[in-house]
Amino acid sequence: MKDICVDENAIHAERHGINMKEANCIFCKIANGEIPSQTLYEDDIFRVILDLGPATKGHALILPKEHYANLYDLPEETAGEVMKLAKKMATEMTERLGCEGFNLVQNNGDLAGQTVFHFHMHLIPRYRADGQKIGWEPQEVSIEELQQVKEQICQG
Ligand code: AMP
Ligand code: ZN
Repeated sequence: MKDICVDENAIHAERHGINMKEANCIFCKIANGEIPSQTLYEDDIFRVILDLGPATKGHALILPKEHYANLYDLPEETAGEVMKLAKKMATEMTERLGCEGFNLVQNNGDLAGQTVFHFHMHLIPRYRADGQKIGWEPQEVSIEELQQVKEQICQG
């Protein structure tokens, strides 16, 4: 009975938010344990791993087990859970590593520095002499420009 072609994997993937186009996504494989990683934490929804190219000692990544390319695709509920887990991990890691500050970084799109297109949140412990710089060059702006931007964002 092949007149209606049903792809069971695609249905499963859709129900679970997995995009089948990303079957070769490395973070899907790591998050689901197909590729080994230095795992700091795991539950049904997330795996937290150490980054292979760390900015600082303890640089880790929160990976959802389901594939979402970026923040735009991430369900609202999962986004909330990511932040709860980030707080928990940052608190624990600060205590264990003795770092003195902490950056949460989350890139969306190649223009914004995203290189792996499976949503992830960077957990970056900061140390006094770590020599890293996470930031931007502040631009000058007038009150009128700020008002225009506000209207562009808030109108409608
Ligand atoms: P982003 O630039 O925000 O997309 O971050 C991607 C991050 O993933 C970088 O910090 C990489 O060092 C890290 N990364 C890439 N491949 C792996 C991997 N196989 N295991 C752990 N971290 C990885
Ligand atoms: Zn993926």
